Amino acid sequence: MVQNDIGQRFHFEALGIRGEYVRLDQTWAALCALHPYPSAAAALLGEALAAAALLSGTLKYPGTLTLQAAGDGALRAVMAEVRETRALRGIVRFRDDDAALPPIAAPLNHLGEGLLTLTLRPPKGEPHQGIVRLGGDHLADAVERYFEQSEQLPTRLWLSTTHGVQGLLLQALPGGDCGSEGFERLAIMASTVKDQELAELDAQTLLKRLFPEDDIRLHPPRPLAFECTCSRERTQETLAAMAPDTLEEILREDGEILMTCQFCQARYRFDPIDFALLNQSAAPKASGPH
Ligand SMILES: [Zn+2]
Repeated sequence: MVQNDIGQRFHFEALGIRGEYVRLDQTWAALCALHPYPSAAAALLGEALAAAALLSGTLKYPGTLTLQAAGDGALRAVMAEVRETRALRGIVRFRDDDAALPPIAAPLNHLGEGLLTLTLRPPKGEPHQGIVRLGGDHLADAVERYFEQSEQLPTRLWLSTTHGVQGLLLQALPGGDCGSEGFERLAIMASTVKDQELAELDAQTLLKRLFPEDDIRLHPPRPLAFECTCSRERTQETLAAMAPDTLEEILREDGEILMTCQFCQARYRFDPIDFALLNQSAAPKASGPH
């Protein structure tokens, strides 16, 4: 059965604990079809997408949430971005394209020593950024430590990339009076979740299975999908910021400038006429012909 990608919020209202469920099977499949990643890199990308989508579901206002883990290992970095809690994109960067990347149970280890950075860009105002050292075997460990250190909010995540990509999050509400006992009890119950259950069950069935005794308010699902922010206009802006001499040389040799989006592989072509028009529009108005 085809299930669309969704995020779904839930609350244990009596306990002051919130949760989030995400399914990103199609987004992940689309990204992996664009980039033929080794399985360990694909798994780490799936974990990053799920973690970013889970965290974006806890935001009070729509903005852009970016999760980036970068290290000194065979993998240079993994990045996942969620805009307005609905549109996702992500990428894995390699230190060396030919590096051996054996499939391992803990793909985070391919990043080596490094940092996890969470950036939140609200619709207005300054971005907020938090950084924590990578550690543990899974991305979820680093995210949990981030919330422990910087937000002092008990947070647990379960990320699965075994059959598609799914994730589950539990978090004590700020100012809630759940007490650590209530949170720990739910976390222990959630820890019994199996990859197969995450892959096969919908949120309602899954939550009933994991927390049969608790009252849960399950909110309606919100759609999530892969979507890139690139455009011909943005690519033009990038070109305008590059050295004209370099671009003219490329035009002389290749007859066109070809820009490929690193996220979605969309190609933007600029021939000499496009380039001339681009330069004209970039020139100061006073000096242009009228
Ligand atoms: Zn793109």
